[in-house]
Amino acid sequence: MAESSVVSRTLLDQAPWLEASRQQIRDALSGDKLAHALLIQGQAGLGKAALAEWIAQLVLCDQPNEHPCGVCPSCRFYLADTHPDLQRVGLVETKKQIAVDDIRELISGLRLKSGRRGRKVAIIDPADAMNANGANALLKTLEEPPAGTLLILTVARLERLPPTVASRCSRVRVKAPLRADAAAWLAEVDSTVDWLGPLALASGAPVAAMTLVSNGGASVTEQMAELPVMLLRPDTDLIALAERSHSQFPAERLRWLEHWLCERIRRGLVIVAPDHNLASQGLPVEARTRHIQALYGLLDQTRLAQVALRGSANVALLFESLYITLARELESIRALRPRS
Ligand SMILES: [Zn+2]
Repeated sequence: MAESSVVSRTLLDQAPWLEASRQQIRDALSGDKLAHALLIQGQAGLGKAALAEWIAQLVLCDQPNEHPCGVCPSCRFYLADTHPDLQRVGLVETKKQIAVDDIRELISGLRLKSGRRGRKVAIIDPADAMNANGANALLKTLEEPPAGTLLILTVARLERLPPTVASRCSRVRVKAPLRADAAAWLAEVDSTVDWLGPLALASGAPVAAMTLVSNGGASVTEQMAELPVMLLRPDTDLIALAERSHSQFPAERLRWLEHWLCERIRRGLVIVAPDHNLASQGLPVEARTRHIQALYGLLDQTRLAQVALRGSANVALLFESLYITLARELESIRALRPRS
């Protein structure tokens, strides 16, 4: 997965926000209470895939301790990516779904005899990319798992996984660390970056923040902060601006907009471009009410665009419509601003 390619497993095996989950697995293993299916649940960019790998390696390790030993024959197979008892299913190339045939192949693999010590592990990451047929095929295995198997599923959006699948798995919940803790951890990895901006765009998820920065998205915050000024400039090409927003970090830009609008609504401020905030009390009551309504409308539009981004809708058009509405709103507020 993209998220683990940017941050190494070694680094994530020590990540403090994953420690509670690692301990949950250690406790279950030492009490011989490990479920036959685990569902690692948490927002994108927390390192769920790396955690799934860590669990797989630990469960297969011949001499596990706090971590997989890294030197036993099983770990050597694992590290050479040739472990006979580990299978993985995920998204390939540009596909948005996991094919049902991949799930069927995984299931028949689980039914084969173990190549080593009796345990077999399969990782499905991300499990919410299974289609209905895939989930159905998996269901029978979840109900009657072959002895010694462990299925590890990851999911960012639980509502996209059929409840019949989710309810048959033991939950491993991964939570984002506090923003300051995440920034401190990231600063140890790379002290040349101011991580708070990327973290905000990544909803506080450290791996997502690192992915964003390594993909060249560190300046999205600054670019977006310029948006109100840009929108009010008569020479700004709104269509080109929307195209650019769509082609580079659209999700992060929408998250920034969402946060920005929420902040303005919450603080009861009106936006006065290019660089002023004017207390809404400074506006006539009618204008203030209308303005707050307009901000809520923009917030709805932003959230619709976020949903559309996950599907196949034309998000460039949605950006265009958002920017046009926002530009009009900024214009109308500027017209109301008391002249000094
Ligand atoms: Zn080992």
